[in-house]
Amino acid sequence: MVKQIFKVLKDVFGYSEFREHQQEIITAILSGKDTLAVMPTGAGKSICYQIPAILSEGITIVVSPLISLMKDQVEQLKEYGIGALFINSSLTPVEYQNNIDRIISGDVKLVYVAPETLISDRLLPVIKSVKISLFAVDEAHCISQWGHDFRPEYRKLSDLREYFSNTPFAAFTATATERVREDIAENLRFKKHEQFIGSFDRPNLFIQVMQKYQPLNQVLDFLEKYPGQSGIIYCATRKQVESLCEDLQKYGYQAKPYHAGMKDEIRMENQQKFLRDDVKIIVATIAFGMGINKSNVRFVVHYDLPKNIESYYQEIGRAGRDGLRAFCLLLFGYKDIDKIKYFISQSNSEFERKLAYEHLKALVDYAEFYHCRRIPMLEYFGEEYKKKSCGMCDNCNSREKNMFDLTVPAQKYLSCIKRTGESFPDSYVIDILIGKKDPKINEFNHDHISTYGIGKEYTHRQWSAISQQLLKGDYLIKDDNRGPSIVTKKGWNLLQSKELFFGYIPKEETKKISVVSADFGSYDENLFKELKAVRKAAADKISVPPYVIFSDKTLIEMASKKPSSRREMLEISGVGQFKYERYGKMFQNTINAFLGEKRDDAVEDRKKPEVSQTIMKLCSQLNEGKTVMDLMTISKLKKTTIVKYMLKYVQAGYSFPLTNVDELLICSTSVQSSALKKLDSEKGKLVIVYNQMIGKISYDDLSLLLIKYLLEKR
Ligand code: ADP
Ligand code: ZN
Repeated sequence: MVKQIFKVLKDVFGYSEFREHQQEIITAILSGKDTLAVMPTGAGKSICYQIPAILSEGITIVVSPLISLMKDQVEQLKEYGIGALFINSSLTPVEYQNNIDRIISGDVKLVYVAPETLISDRLLPVIKSVKISLFAVDEAHCISQWGHDFRPEYRKLSDLREYFSNTPFAAFTATATERVREDIAENLRFKKHEQFIGSFDRPNLFIQVMQKYQPLNQVLDFLEKYPGQSGIIYCATRKQVESLCEDLQKYGYQAKPYHAGMKDEIRMENQQKFLRDDVKIIVATIAFGMGINKSNVRFVVHYDLPKNIESYYQEIGRAGRDGLRAFCLLLFGYKDIDKIKYFISQSNSEFERKLAYEHLKALVDYAEFYHCRRIPMLEYFGEEYKKKSCGMCDNCNSREKNMFDLTVPAQKYLSCIKRTGESFPDSYVIDILIGKKDPKINEFNHDHISTYGIGKEYTHRQWSAISQQLLKGDYLIKDDNRGPSIVTKKGWNLLQSKELFFGYIPKEETKKISVVSADFGSYDENLFKELKAVRKAAADKISVPPYVIFSDKTLIEMASKKPSSRREMLEISGVGQFKYERYGKMFQNTINAFLGEKRDDAVEDRKKPEVSQTIMKLCSQLNEGKTVMDLMTISKLKKTTIVKYMLKYVQAGYSFPLTNVDELLICSTSVQSSALKKLDSEKGKLVIVYNQMIGKISYDDLSLLLIKYLLEKR
C-alpha cells in the first residue's frame, strides 16, 4: 500500500516526498477511517483525498462550498490525467446531464459538488446507485457556527450517514480552533476517528507590520521591490479599493479592482485576469480570495486593518502557496483603530461588541508585538512557536537591536501603571503616557494625573515595546495573559532607582521598508521568463490559469537544473508522467533552445526505445513457437518484467503472434474494449490511459492491450 501511495505521488503529481501528515492522512482514509485534518492553506490538503480517490474503487465525492474552487480543482486534475467533474448551479441542463451520465458510467474518480446540490432530490439517487469510496468535506469549518464562514447547508451533510453507513468521511479545514474541530466531528457524526493537526506556521511568508503614515507612498515603495510579480492588496472599503486601484494605475501598475459592489461579470473577469497572469495586482475587499488557488501570489498587502487575526492569517495565507518566499505587509494605523472602535460602539449587541473588541485587541497586540511575530500569530491558533527567531519577520530582521539605558522611560511606564491602580490594559496606560485625547481617559479623570502626557517622546508602538520588555523581564506580571499589568517587587526596585533597566526601542519607520529579497536560490532568470511565456501560451490555449500547468516553483527548478532528458525532467518536483507526456517536450525544447544547443529532438529520440540483446533474445522466441510461460521458465523472470519486455519489443517495430497477448489478459472483455478505445483516443499513451483507469485495470493488462493495439494497427 505504501508503495502504491508513493507511486501515485510521483507518477501522477510528480512529487517525491510527502509533506507533514499527508501520508498518515492518506493511510487513515484508505483504511476506511473517518478522518479530520486541520492544516493551513497551502499545506497540501487536496492530495490527501485525491490519492485515496485514485487508489480506491468507486467515486470520491468532494464537498466544496465554492464554484470557482471546484472548477479550478477539476481543471488541475484534468492536467494530471485524472477523471474529475463538478456539479453545481453553473452548469447548463445539458452539461448537468452529461456529468450525471459520466458518474453512472464510472468514468470519473472525483466528483466535486456543493452541499446543497449533493443532497438534492436529483443527485442523491444517482449517488446512491454507484459505489462511493469516500466523502471528502473540504472547508469543513463551514459546518460550524464558531467558524468564520458558517454555511447552514453543510449541516445537512450528516443525513448522508443514513444511506452510506460504511463510507468513510474525511473533513479538511484550515481553521484550527478546538470548538470548530469538535463541531465538525459532532456534526458529521464521527465516531472513532483520526485527527491530524498540522503546524500553522508558514515559514516561507515574510511578515511585516508598518505604521501607516502615507499609505499610497508606502504601497508604491513596496511594489517597487516586486516588479512583475502577482499580489493582492486588501482594503477595508469598496471606495478605498476603487481609489487605490486608480492611483496604482496612474503610476503604471497593472491593477484591477474586486469588491462585492461591482457587476458580477466585471468582477469575475478581473479575477480571471489575475488568475491567468494577465493582470498582476488585484486591489480588493475581503470578498476576494476564498477559493483562489493561484499558487504564485508573491505578496499580500493590508492597506487597512484586517477584521481579526484569523482573517489576517487566511488572507496572507493566499501568498506563497507554491512554497517559494512571499511577502506580507500590514499597514497599521492608529486612526484606523479609532474608526473601528467607533463602529464597534455602534453595534446593538453586547455579545458582538465584546467579541469585536477582543478581536481588535488581539490585532493591536500583534501589531505592537516586539519579538518574533510568529509567536502571537501561532499562539492564536493554540500553537507554541518554539524557535527564538524566525528570520522571516520584520522584528527578527530588525537591525536596530542595540540596548539602551531605558531606566527613565521604564519608570514613567511603571509609575503610570501604579497611578491608574494597576487595573487598566497596557494600551490604555500608553494612551495616558502619550497624552491622548480620549473620552474614556476624561471619564476616569486620568487626564489630570501626573503621568498624563509625560511620554510624548515615544510613539504608541515604542511604548508597547517597552511594556513588553518590562513584562519579559519580570518587572510586571499579568493575572492572565491579557489583563492589566501589575508591578512586581523587581518593578518597585526599578521605580525607586535601585536598579537600572536596559532595553531596545524600535525605530519608527520612515520611508524605508526593510525587505528580504525574493531569493529563490540560484536559477537562470531569463530562462525562467521564457519558460513562463511558454506556460502562458499553453495555458491560454486551453483556457486555464498558468499555474494549472506547472507552478512557478517547478519552472524555477527547471531554470535552475536545466534538465536535458526525460529522466531528468521527471525528477523535477511537479512533473508527473502525464504532464511530462503532454508538456515535457515543449518545455524541454525551450530549455534546449535557450542553451543554444540544437537538441530539439532529443526528447523524441530518447523516446524511441532501444531494444537490448536480452529482450531480443527472449521475445524472438515467441516467434519460434514458445509461449510466455515457457519464457518465464527459461528466464526466471516475473510476468510483469516479461510483459514490459514484450512491449518494448513491439514498440521497437518487432512483432509476434497475438495469441501470446490474449492468453495472458485477465480483465473482462468489456474493460478490454474500453481500454482499447482509450488507448486509441490517447494515441497509445500508456500512462495517460492508466491514470484514467486506475483501479479498473492492472498495469500489466494495460501494457498487453497496448501491445495488441500496436500490433493490430500495423
Ligand atoms: P491546501 O488545499 O491545503 O490549501 P493545496 O492542496 O492547494 O493546499 O496544495 C498547495 C500546493 O502544494 C499545490 O500546488 C500542491 O500541488 C502542492 N503540494 C501538495 N503536496 C505536495 C508535496 N508532497 N510535495 C510538493 N508539493 C506539494
Ligand atoms: Zn520572527
